[in-house]
Amino acid sequence: MPTHKKTAPSHAWIAFGGNQGDVRNAFKSARKNIAEHPDCKLLHSSLLYQTPPLGPAGQADYLNAVVAISTYLEPLNLLAILQDIERIHGRIRHEHWGPRTLDLDILAYDDLHLQSHTLTLPHSQLHLRQFVLKPLCDMNPQWLHPSIKKNASELLQSLLDSGEEPLESGSPW
Ligand code: ADP
Ligand code: MG
Repeated sequence: MPTHKKTAPSHAWIAFGGNQGDVRNAFKSARKNIAEHPDCKLLHSSLLYQTPPLGPAGQADYLNAVVAISTYLEPLNLLAILQDIERIHGRIRHEHWGPRTLDLDILAYDDLHLQSHTLTLPHSQLHLRQFVLKPLCDMNPQWLHPSIKKNASELLQSLLDSGEEPLESGSPW
């Protein structure tokens, strides 16, 4: 894919997930790949959370975290880079929500709204997932969802108010 470089950087929030192999090491290595990309700068990392699996039963627990970056990459170029990094870490796409070594999703890109075949921004599930909202709260509880117009802390509280068990506390990585 040709890289169209922007003249001013954007902010993007990237969700990390995985439940196969040495996930913590895969996360650290992928974060390094992102930080070392010439068009990306790592701004913040959330804590790391161990979370129960969604989707097919019998899977191992997941690890989840979020990082904030500034980037000169356009959203589709950023997605392509993240998919390259998934591949380097042995990601093979099998069943939907099935086990994976490394999943890198773009949660949001500035306050851009995009709905295409390959990329939905903000991420369609972001407001429904404690494992995304809690890490966002670690970095900035006031982080505003670009379309729902509620902040990460309010969105997390709605899930807890609906009776979800809170995540166990996170750890540095
Ligand atoms: P999931 O992340 O839903 O578990 P995959 O990682 O296999 O599943 O992604 C499936 C497809 O979702 C990707 O090929 C990508 O084109 C698309 N996609 C749509 N929106 C996003 C997003 N915001 N971040 C990452 N991938 C996305
Ligand atoms: Mg994904």
